[in-house]
Amino acid sequence: MIAELSSMTDDQRMLADTVATFVERELKPHEEEVERLGEVPADLVNQIKQRSRDMGLYAVNMPEEHGGGGLGYSDRVYVEREFGRTSRGLSTIVNRPAVILMDCAGDQIDTYLKPVTTGERFECFALTEPGSGSDARGMKTTARRDGDDYVLNGTKHFITNAILADFIIVFAVTGQDETPRGPRPRITSFLVDKALPGITVTPMDVMSNRGMKSCFISFDEVRVPARNILGEEGAGFKRAKKWLFSGRICLAACNVGLATRALSEAAQWANERVQFGQPIARFQGTSFKFADGAMEAHLAWLAIVEAAKKMDEGTLTEAEASAANLFASEMLGRATDNALQVLGGMGMSKDAPFERYFRDARVERIWEGTSEIHRHIISKYVLDGATGSR
Ligand SMILES: Cc1cc2nc3c(=O)[nH]c(=O)nc-3n(C[C@H](O)[C@H](O)[C@H](O)COP(=O)(O)OP(=O)(O)OC[C@H]3O[C@@H](n4cnc5c(N)ncnc54)[C@H](O)[C@@H]3O)c2cc1C
Repeated sequence: MIAELSSMTDDQRMLADTVATFVERELKPHEEEVERLGEVPADLVNQIKQRSRDMGLYAVNMPEEHGGGGLGYSDRVYVEREFGRTSRGLSTIVNRPAVILMDCAGDQIDTYLKPVTTGERFECFALTEPGSGSDARGMKTTARRDGDDYVLNGTKHFITNAILADFIIVFAVTGQDETPRGPRPRITSFLVDKALPGITVTPMDVMSNRGMKSCFISFDEVRVPARNILGEEGAGFKRAKKWLFSGRICLAACNVGLATRALSEAAQWANERVQFGQPIARFQGTSFKFADGAMEAHLAWLAIVEAAKKMDEGTLTEAEASAANLFASEMLGRATDNALQVLGGMGMSKDAPFERYFRDARVERIWEGTSEIHRHIISKYVLDGATGSR
């Protein structure tokens, strides 16, 4: 970062320092082990949960009345930026549960919302399917009403942390709605206990974020009580979008954290590595990479802090959320690529972390909406504005 923003409050500074200390002491020392094993050992999961709870960092985004930290987005982005500086396999264990769980009502509060806040239970979010990704509404998973239950059938894939999860927030088609634009699948969200008969979870092997498993989940005649609908029947897609909105800002903040780590570690190398009789940092071909990286990280952070403020005020538009995520994720791609380049051959070596930063950065342009989808959203906003329809 070039500098902290003038809008940063003393409380935000303290919060960021607390998370930074936790990341240094409790998470970073385990990065190489997680990378080597491809998973986080169970005793380490428990240790991270316990220590983050002790420091008041667990479920910082959940309501205080249920034991959470009650943070709004303006504060939370500082937390995310600091967690972004380490492996996601480790940092996601300090759960910031899916915000749509705040829609839990009645018995769901004690069975799902409170336990995810205390860390007794862990959730995953299952929207994407093999046949529907960017076009999530095209999903094929169905939930058929049968007496007091719904019966789920279908397959989800790339579901993060489904291995760790005790329950799954599942999106499924429960019917069809007639709309002015023609018939549309009616999508409903369910809280589904992973132990139910008919559910199979299979890990996938992906390029980024070793230790944080993506999974296939298949549902074969899975019987879920109707009381496990999250929110109202048919309102699932609206709820999914709420989660994506929040995810776009928080992941963007993580991107700034990883970019600044990669750049500052590469800068140390550039100051020490001597070629042609001088540190490579003295060559403009090297030093300008740091100028561009620091400038872009700073600009990304400005967009994120502004977007977070608007999230708290309820005024953030979809285009602004996309712009912050798109710029931050592409900025991270350039920063980790440049950091690797500064190390030359050592950047490619598994003995240094730069190839990992590069790999971990790659998913950021895909998973919270691809870069193309973000450009689609932003351009629609601009083009509609030009015709006066917005
Ligand atoms: C590691 C990982 C973890 C994930 N975790 C989760 C999770 O926990 N839960 C979950 O539900 N999902 C998760 N996802 C899925 C993620 O949300 C999707 O991968 C993403 O939405 C893109 O969908 P897709 O992969 O099917 O790509 P597609 O939609 O098939 O897109 C393929 C390509 O076509 C382009 N494209 C598609 N439509 C358009 C268009 N209209 N205009 C221009 N270009 C277009 C895309 O930009 C992309 O380049 C995860 C994905 C990954 C990789």
